[in-house]
Amino acid sequence: MTRVLSVTSECAPLVKTGGLADVAGALPGALAGAGVQMRTLLPGYPAVMAALDGGEVCARLGDCFGGAARVLAATVAGLDLLVLDAPHLYDRGAGIYLSDTGRDWPDNPERFAALSWVAAEIAGGLLPDWRPEIVHAHDWQGGLAPCYIARGPAAGQVRTVLTIHNIAFQGLAPASRLSALRLSSADFTPEGVEYWGQISALKAGLVFADRITTVSPTYAEELLTPEFGMGLEGVLAARRNVLSGILNGIDTCIWSPEADPLITPYARPEGKAANKSALRAEFGLPEADGPLCIVISRMTEQKGLDLLLDALPTLLDRGGQLAVLGSGDPVLQAAFERAARHPNVAVRIGYDEALSHRMMAGGDAILVPSRFEPCGLTQLYGLRYGTVPLVALTGGLADTVIPATHATLAGKPVATGIQFHPVTAQALGNALARLCALYAQPKLWRRMQRNAMAHPVGWDHSAAAYAALYKGLPGIAT
Ligand code: ADP
Repeated sequence: MTRVLSVTSECAPLVKTGGLADVAGALPGALAGAGVQMRTLLPGYPAVMAALDGGEVCARLGDCFGGAARVLAATVAGLDLLVLDAPHLYDRGAGIYLSDTGRDWPDNPERFAALSWVAAEIAGGLLPDWRPEIVHAHDWQGGLAPCYIARGPAAGQVRTVLTIHNIAFQGLAPASRLSALRLSSADFTPEGVEYWGQISALKAGLVFADRITTVSPTYAEELLTPEFGMGLEGVLAARRNVLSGILNGIDTCIWSPEADPLITPYARPEGKAANKSALRAEFGLPEADGPLCIVISRMTEQKGLDLLLDALPTLLDRGGQLAVLGSGDPVLQAAFERAARHPNVAVRIGYDEALSHRMMAGGDAILVPSRFEPCGLTQLYGLRYGTVPLVALTGGLADTVIPATHATLAGKPVATGIQFHPVTAQALGNALARLCALYAQPKLWRRMQRNAMAHPVGWDHSAAAYAALYKGLPGIAT
């Protein structure tokens, strides 16, 4: 078995703000069958400590970025966890990244530098009975781990992988924090951790990791362009020979229309009818002739929901309906609440996992008009539930949805959804019109739903790709 330490700031089902948690939570199980033993290093937030119910102390650190800390080992929800119990960094209320003012915790650079530092210590032999061959860090929160490893005793012995789930978050800190973050001034250069006069934890990972991955092949290409690289396109271009895209899968046990305890289960699209009636009742939507569209999303600029507000009349004029679940930007939230004055629009502001299942089961189509989308998960749930995805042609949305064209509607490859480009309100409006036209042809629509439900969205393929990546690293036994 190849021993891999996954370093992540969130991990489902313990702590989640977005897709990273789903991936970090699913990978260990998916990789077990591919000859990989993955342990997961996670900060000891209150929710994580509560889930541990004790745990075994396997290391103590006297000074872990401003206080004492312990590494606890425990198995929770099938995950082999190593938890960094550092109360001075993680034992606080509000969010895992944001305080209750809605701003980043001021010591976020130290909080996640500590996580990365401890990963490097574990790589260097901190634990008495287990040492990884590979450290796989996620996003900026794990970004310093490859740097600490390259500069520490495990250099050249332990290999490193960094996965970018979203390049928009780069882990910036003022240069004055260099020594607090245990970084050497020799590395504070454009070839190192320096980014326009600041420290960037993500850049550190991009520079020092042996391999860089992101969560779809198209996003891997897009990241090399100024439009999507968010200032790091040059750094990535310099490392393009070690950059690749591996699509995320979804947990098909949790997201399974045949066996989902939160819905009226179904194995064929026809079985969605009971769920659709229930969803309409739950959202107070009347009967209608057009498709019932759903959105489940963080409400941010990235997700293109402002475009949907602009294009909405096209859907409503054709008898379509919209049910939205999301939270985030207060301006967008308010705009959706205003849109919900229309009888065929309903909005729930908040985060509600169970409702997201009921929406997937009851919706006809899921809309994902993102401006950029590293992979995206909700379109994958949509495929699984026969809830036809209408997506922007970008990132993982481009890689996972086979667009309806004359050829794909007729045969092979088979159409599973609708794509639009460019990502503008007008193109989205045209796509919504096309959606309504397809929905009005029940035979074609059913065929698309069946195609969608048959499309493979589990982890098998991706787990094999990660296992191959690990085993291709120098010095890793196959
Ligand atoms: P991102 O990570 O950019 O937020 P993804 O599509 O990769 O986008 O993952 C989002 C995850 O969060 C999905 O599992 C989605 O179902 C879930 N999600 C987002 N908003 C909500 C919400 N308001 N209620 C329930 N689940 C949500």
